[in-house]
Amino acid sequence: MPHIATTNPATGQVLKTYEAMSTEQLDDAIERTDLAFHQLLSTTVDQRAQWMNAAADLLDAERDEIARIMTTEMGKTYVAAQAEVTKCATAARFYADKAPAFLADEPADADAVKATRAFIRYQPIGVVLAVMPWNFPLWQVMRFAAPALMAGNTGLLKHASNVPQTALLLEDVFRRAGFPEGAFTTVLVDSEAVDHILSDPRVRAATLTGSEPAGRSIAQIAGRELKKTVLELGGSDPFVVMPSADVDRAAEVATTARCQNNGQSCIAAKRFIVHTDVFDAFAEKFAANMAALRVGDPMDPNTDVGPLASERGRDEVHAQVRDAVDNGATVLCGGEPPAGDGWFYPPTVVTDLTPKMRMWSEEVFGPVAGLFRVSSYEEAIEVANGTSFGLGSNAWTRDPAEQERFATDLDAGNVFINGMTTSYPELPFGGVKNSGYGRELSALGMREFCNTKTVWVGEGAASAGAGAHAE
Ligand code: NAP
Repeated sequence: MPHIATTNPATGQVLKTYEAMSTEQLDDAIERTDLAFHQLLSTTVDQRAQWMNAAADLLDAERDEIARIMTTEMGKTYVAAQAEVTKCATAARFYADKAPAFLADEPADADAVKATRAFIRYQPIGVVLAVMPWNFPLWQVMRFAAPALMAGNTGLLKHASNVPQTALLLEDVFRRAGFPEGAFTTVLVDSEAVDHILSDPRVRAATLTGSEPAGRSIAQIAGRELKKTVLELGGSDPFVVMPSADVDRAAEVATTARCQNNGQSCIAAKRFIVHTDVFDAFAEKFAANMAALRVGDPMDPNTDVGPLASERGRDEVHAQVRDAVDNGATVLCGGEPPAGDGWFYPPTVVTDLTPKMRMWSEEVFGPVAGLFRVSSYEEAIEVANGTSFGLGSNAWTRDPAEQERFATDLDAGNVFINGMTTSYPELPFGGVKNSGYGRELSALGMREFCNTKTVWVGEGAASAGAGAHAE
């Protein structure tokens, strides 16, 4: 089977295949993207904002067709795909609107540094390689592309090999929105080509959203080449429920938090850590909610959970569940893939987990929840922080003092109290430990790929102060 292909996960049918680009074609693409960077250097932030807003308008206008492509490429429900397109348009408009402020010169204390004038200027660095995953095939790319292009960088996208149509349509959207040819370029290549791309001196940095092994590989290449990286890797987010929590609401949100995107989200809650005082009540409601979800055709608006994106992914999830069961875990619902076509897996809750089981410490990338019983706040924190990951985290408690403690003690890139983790353009997003480093979204995400330039001016400063520049 060709590696770069659209295969419908609901049927297993290969719909479209693509030849990987030759090294020559790849080098041409890098050249186009670098030339476009030099063109963007002479554009204003207002000009780029016009193009970015036009891209948002195209996404809105073509939402349903884009959503259909996403659903047939990776299996998310059509309803979720439509929402993802809308979210991308919102993020594009956010960066179009905020870029002038995020990129404005920042004055520093001139007296303290013996200058007439001193400030920080944010400037683009050049071509940025984006290696992206299939699970939110539009959003993962947009949350890199919108800030990067608004800052004046150009983007070279190597998308996951199972979402080539979404990858190509993004390039097309930015081109039709008015960005210069090459400002956002999709390359259809396998992951082996990443070394070649990142070794090219015209490529200045890389961002990866994906698995830990991919992160290690890209960080090694970037280290050798002395290039900056931002890594958004896996997670096994804890969802802690304490005695003061609204247990019904927690069980309801837990179901969505685990099964959104068919259970294939880096920030899905994956480990449900419940205080013994409310464990039985939570477990009963949660398992009932999970079992009630409708699994089926992702194009059907009544479907809650579609297929997993690949057969390999579905088999891996089932192997993790089997490993737990074989070692003594208890399945409260689900646990067996249905017969028939497509890579479906039922919402599953597994409890009585022990550290020797894979589910204790590994990320499960499907609609499978691990349920843990704890008897104190301290034990909850120990279990919550007891994996190599640190992406998102959730805590449910109505006790204000406990909320404060969770905010500090959870070792993760974000803490959501009495709600599920989600991403907003306004808030930084990223992880700690093996979940990666660097931040996307907000002003921080835009500045990750800027040269934060110190400007110090002695005698003879012009009267125009810092803050005048926002290109
Ligand atoms: P993956 O295998 O790492 O693939 C992600 C991307 O990396 C794809 O474009 C893939 O290309 C490429 N890739 C794979 N191995 C590579 C290597 N050795 N060198 C360079 N590039 C490589 O990830 P996945 O399993 O498809 O996606 C799920 C993972 O992504 C989960 O762990 C999930 O938690 C994580 N994720 C993290 C975030 C976040 O924001 N932190 C968001 C979404 C997903 P090919 O497709 O050609 O192999």
